[in-house]
Amino acid sequence: YSLPNPSLQAREGAKGIDWAAVRADFPLLRREVHGKPLVYLDSANTGQKPACVIEATDDFYRRHNANVSRAVHALGSEATEAYEGARGKLARFLGVRGDDLVLCSGTTFALNLVAYSWALPRLQAGDAILLTRMEHHANIVPWQLVAQRTGATIKVAELLPDGSLDLDGLYAAMTPEVKLLGIAHVSNVLGTVNPVATICREARRRGIVSVVDGSQAAPHMPVDIAAIGCDFYAVTGHKMCGPTGTGALWARREHLEAMPPFLGGGEMIKEVRFDGTVFNDPPHKFEAGTPNIAGFVGLGAGVDYLSALGMEAIAARERALLAHATEELLKIDGLRLYGRAKDKAAVISFAIDGTHSHDLATLLDLEGVAVRSGQHCAHPLLQWLGVGTTCRASLAFYNTHEEVDAFVAALRKVKRLLA
Ligand code: PLP
Repeated sequence: YSLPNPSLQAREGAKGIDWAAVRADFPLLRREVHGKPLVYLDSANTGQKPACVIEATDDFYRRHNANVSRAVHALGSEATEAYEGARGKLARFLGVRGDDLVLCSGTTFALNLVAYSWALPRLQAGDAILLTRMEHHANIVPWQLVAQRTGATIKVAELLPDGSLDLDGLYAAMTPEVKLLGIAHVSNVLGTVNPVATICREARRRGIVSVVDGSQAAPHMPVDIAAIGCDFYAVTGHKMCGPTGTGALWARREHLEAMPPFLGGGEMIKEVRFDGTVFNDPPHKFEAGTPNIAGFVGLGAGVDYLSALGMEAIAARERALLAHATEELLKIDGLRLYGRAKDKAAVISFAIDGTHSHDLATLLDLEGVAVRSGQHCAHPLLQWLGVGTTCRASLAFYNTHEEVDAFVAALRKVKRLLA
């Protein structure tokens, strides 16, 4: 069973990367919006898909569709092979063993799995969960639900004015009652890249289990989970060139063995009897029911695509786009950038004095420029910034320097309209 992937083959072995050709792999980026060429700057929200991902998903439904791990017929084996093959690809991409990677619908599911299977049975009154100010709601609300049910409390590590973590404050907050640390690898609002390897080492020294939200890291930089040394690492596939409804949780084997299942049903059992059920081995113990098979086949093609480009090359490309955009945006009077950490991914939150971010985003859309406005699922961070909303332009390797210029020109125009 092999996936059709001509664009990937064409790219393999190439020395320099032809970014214009890479961009041409993304069919949606050719469209217009409101009669203007689309400038898609919302990749932190969801990423666009290269043709090889769309084709792999299409090909699965056209030629191989069947359920996994159930039927002995040819299609059943092909579907199982394709699904497990995707697990292997994602595992290699993250530098881990496939057996330690639970496939699920995305980071939200992955973090809830840790909350319900690891934290809920273990935490009690007197324990604390340590989070950072910059977490996405997916790395806040599950812990609040656990805290409500166990009597544990939530502690918050604060930020420095540039939007980086106050590391001294974070380490000082790692007191004996803290049992779990939830931390974003990269902030979806500020772009701050947290030094998670150092932080997780400090947590581990103090017996604190670390849960890293890798949603905004895995699509943009090399991620080596073993080198980070965390206990859990969550990724979401739709930001990594893959289809929506795909993602994964990596966990240390000892946790996977010890954790009870989160959801019960088919696939996650070895034997069911009314007097006692034997669960499957991890990771299948945590994958109840029919998974998003075609989605994972697409994600497998997506991580192949990212790997063929190389995550170092992608990170360098996005650094250059970020530098260009930052330089041009700072020339606009009254524009405030949120998040100026030294180590920063290509996520640019901003506001313009005297304008509302929804108005900016709405008028930018009329110019063909897609940015997000609002609170970005990070209310506590926006409260800290002291603003109701921001506009957020988030870049990916398929964006171009010409698009950055078009965005800045559109923003200047929109600013004049609103002034
Ligand atoms: N964490 C971060 C930092 C995110 O940016 C996102 C997505 O926006 C999530 C978690 C949630 O991911 P999903 O909605 O795919 O589960």
